[in-house]
This record gives sequence, structure tokens and C-alpha cells, in this order.
Amino acid sequence: YKVKYAPFKNERNNIGGLIIVFQDMTNEHKLDNMRKEFVANVSHELKTPITTIKSYTETLMDDGIDEEMEQRFLAVIDNECDRMARLVKDLLQLSNLDYKKTTWKKQEVSAKKLLKEILLKLEFAFKEKNHKIIVDVEENLPNIVIDKDGIEQVILNIISNAIKYTENGGEIQISSRCLDDTISIKVKDNGIGIPEEDRQRIFERFYRVEKGRSRESGGTGLGLSIAKQIIEAHNGEILLDSCFGEGTTVEIKIPYEKV
Ligand code: ADP
Repeated sequence: YKVKYAPFKNERNNIGGLIIVFQDMTNEHKLDNMRKEFVANVSHELKTPITTIKSYTETLMDDGIDEEMEQRFLAVIDNECDRMARLVKDLLQLSNLDYKKTTWKKQEVSAKKLLKEILLKLEFAFKEKNHKIIVDVEENLPNIVIDKDGIEQVILNIISNAIKYTENGGEIQISSRCLDDTISIKVKDNGIGIPEEDRQRIFERFYRVEKGRSRESGGTGLGLSIAKQIIEAHNGEILLDSCFGEGTTVEIKIPYEKV
């Protein structure tokens, strides 16, 4: 608590009492810590690829390196540059969302058509990991008014996570239903799951359960926090349910206009 006090005088100009104000600083402290943690995370995420790039270029500048090795080193450098570019892109998007600078281009979209387009883009990723995919979309879903690119990014991220965090040959179910006044889109996997102690923090920036696996698959650790902000800008909800070792379900609910 921060304490401020001031005396006040009575009608005879004597000190009549003391006003004491207790200010709860818990939120300020939390915000301050979050800011510090964020800067530490960004610095760390950038430092790792920079260190790699630096040591590989130094080796490349040495004499006596054969052509095959040279190509291998260049590929590593290229990969690390891509990682930094992804990170900066995600950070810029978060900053635009924070400062409400994102311009939403809302348009009427059929959820069924949107899901079809997204699944087409992920076809290769599904095949690569040999996952079985089950799609179950309710007939006659009402259209939703959304920023198509934004919502597509959210769904792509959720399905990509399901693919990434499920061992080869897994099963991913994608379903869409019409609820009272929202459209629900659910992605259920039978992958590694998320331990209970990590579940509440999973939408925080840079929070990852397994840093190694996330980095290996090119993740920035910002996907779900961006997804949450995009969904909230649509007055929707994003929910996560998971059982460690059994699988994860992520659901988004987006309101639609009733006609
Ligand atoms: P990343 O780029 O690391 O995938 P996200 O913000 O998309 O970042 O996800 C944050 C973390 O949540 C991931 O690093 C992973 O630990 C966990 N996670 C997300 N989706 C799943 C899932 N379907 N199954 C298991 N863990 C998941």
C-alpha cells in the first residue's frame, strides 16, 4: 500500500484531524513487473538468434571452409533471420493492437467457407505429421461479420498449435456450431496437453510450456496472446480446456447479428 496523509483544520484553525489515504498498489506493481518481464523476454528472444548469426558469419569469414559447410551455415543464418522477422512482425502487431491502431475491415463471412480456406492452407502441415483430421460443421450456420484476415489468423494459429503440439499420427477435430447468439469454432486435439499450473498463463505474452518445442517449430510464444486480443476486439471469447497428456481443446465464440 502507498500511504498519503494530510492534517485538516477545524473552525478555530486548530488541527482537527488527519486524513489518511491508503492506495492499493497491487495492480501498479503487477503492471510494472509485467512490463519488466516483457522487456527481458524480448531482449532474450532477440539475443539468441543474433548470437547464432554472429558466430556462424565469423566462421564463414574464416578460410578453409568447404562449400557444403558454407551452404549449411548460410541456411542456419537464413533461418535465424526469418525467426527474428517473425518476432518483430508479431511485436508490431501487438503494439498496434495495444494502441488500438489496427484498422478492422469488417465484412460478412460464412464460417464454413472460411474454415475450408484455412484447411486448404494447412493441408501440407497435416500430411507432414500424418494427422487425421475430422471436420464437423453444422448446416446453415449464420454468417458472421468479422475482419476476415484477423479471424483467419486466429484460427490458423489455433489449428497450427494443435498440429505442432500433437505427436505424429494424431487426431484433430474441428467443429463449428451456432449457439444462442454466437458462432462457436472448436479445435480439439489428442496431443501433449497443457499441465494445470500453466493453463491460466497460456494467453500471456511469451508464455510457453515447452520453450524448446515451441522454438523448434518456429513459434514466437505470442500467437495466443495476439489471438485473444483479436477475438476480444470482435467482442468474442477464447476458451482453453486441456488435460495433460491427453489433449487440448480451444474454442472461440464470435457474436453474430440475429436477423
Ligand atoms: P507458440 O508460438 O509457442 O506456439 P502460442 O502463443 O501460440 O505460442 O502458444 C503458447 C504456448 O501454449 C505454446 O508454446 C504451447 O506450450 C502451448 N500450447 C498452445 N496450444 C497448444 C496445444 N494445442 N497443445 C499443447 N500445448 C499448446
